[in-house]
Amino acid sequence: MRIAAKATEQLILESSLRIREPIFLERCSISNGEIHVHVNFRRGAHFHCQNCGSELTEVHDTVVKIWRHMDFMGRKCYVHMRTPRIDCYSCGISRWTPPWASGRSHFTELFESEVVALSKVMPVNPLGRFVDEHDTRLWRIIRRHAERRGVKHQRELSQ
Ligand SMILES: [Zn+2]
Repeated sequence: MRIAAKATEQLILESSLRIREPIFLERCSISNGEIHVHVNFRRGAHFHCQNCGSELTEVHDTVVKIWRHMDFMGRKCYVHMRTPRIDCYSCGISRWTPPWASGRSHFTELFESEVVALSKVMPVNPLGRFVDEHDTRLWRIIRRHAERRGVKHQRELSQ
């Protein structure tokens, strides 16, 4: 079933995913009770190179990716995007990472933050049942965030 995103819901989704030009929320659909958010980019878009910041880029090719996002209105929510690899005049070809992504994870940064916050107040096994994900996937998220915090803490100590 295809639904038109209402203005408020659209704004909430755009802000939680930090969607800005040249990418845009194309449409939302509901399938098997899950919300699917489809993000696209403008034809002829010039993405900023994430290595050097240059706008002298072209889209080289794309690969469709799907991330699980925080539940939205009590439903599981997935973000779909044909994600570009961009060809930068200075740096060459590199993968472009959307603002909601957490490295190469299949979960959005916000979903992962929610899991990390919940893992502080409940054991991982029931948390897995609560968010309907296998606990090994949740452990991976929790460990990765702990490592990042460790690296940040080490950096702060060495300054
Ligand atoms: Zn570059």
